[in-house]
Amino acid sequence: MPIQQTTYYQLQKFLSEKGVTLVAVSKTKPVSDIEELYALGQRDFGENYVQELVDKQPLLPADIRWHFIGHLQRNKVKYIVPFVYLIHSVDSLRLLLEIEKQAAKIGRPVNVLLQMYIAGEETKFGLDEVELNELMQHIQLHPLQFVSIKGMMGMASFVEDQKMLEKEFATLYSLYSRFKNTAIPNVNLEICSMGMSGDYALAIQQGSNMVRVGSLLFGARK
Ligand SMILES: *Cc1c(COP(=O)(O)O)cnc(C)c1O
Repeated sequence: MPIQQTTYYQLQKFLSEKGVTLVAVSKTKPVSDIEELYALGQRDFGENYVQELVDKQPLLPADIRWHFIGHLQRNKVKYIVPFVYLIHSVDSLRLLLEIEKQAAKIGRPVNVLLQMYIAGEETKFGLDEVELNELMQHIQLHPLQFVSIKGMMGMASFVEDQKMLEKEFATLYSLYSRFKNTAIPNVNLEICSMGMSGDYALAIQQGSNMVRVGSLLFGARK
């Protein structure tokens, strides 16, 4: 399926006027689709599956910034730490500490976001508020050396209800704001990653400055 070129230019214009970064979510899409969007100027791409990312990365230009946005298992961290630009999906202290360990092993700084649980649905991954506080307390006592926490990510419920979506995005933004000026070492929140193809405009109204858009650019996934 060809890239939606006009959609891309319009979206990019809308986002850059608002200072919002676009992550083009290329999961399940072929390398040729990524090359097409790259040729239009896109550099930030997001993938959900470790194996797929590890397969695609060497085939594509080295200046692509790879965002890992899917659920990440601890035993797979080592495969992406050597080249990943930003991991959006840190949903436990154990995962955070594994990333720190693998980053230390190769001496490479790694930037991450904390994925927060904001949806009313049971199926979504993420930290709740109690777990967030515990994680922050832990790294205050045991500062990270190689990993920097750069912000938060959240996925809203998959519903049409605008009021519900608004509330979920607002919840994430308020957690983000609460820790924005913290003095905890290696916690420098500047990225609030929320909004996808169906809800990015609403997410931006609620404070998002990074959106993850897939199907709008690449067409529907199977
Ligand atoms: C697939 C995915 C997206 C993109 O979804 P679209 O609706 O296709 O824009 C964004 N974020 C995450 C975490 C995803 O898994």
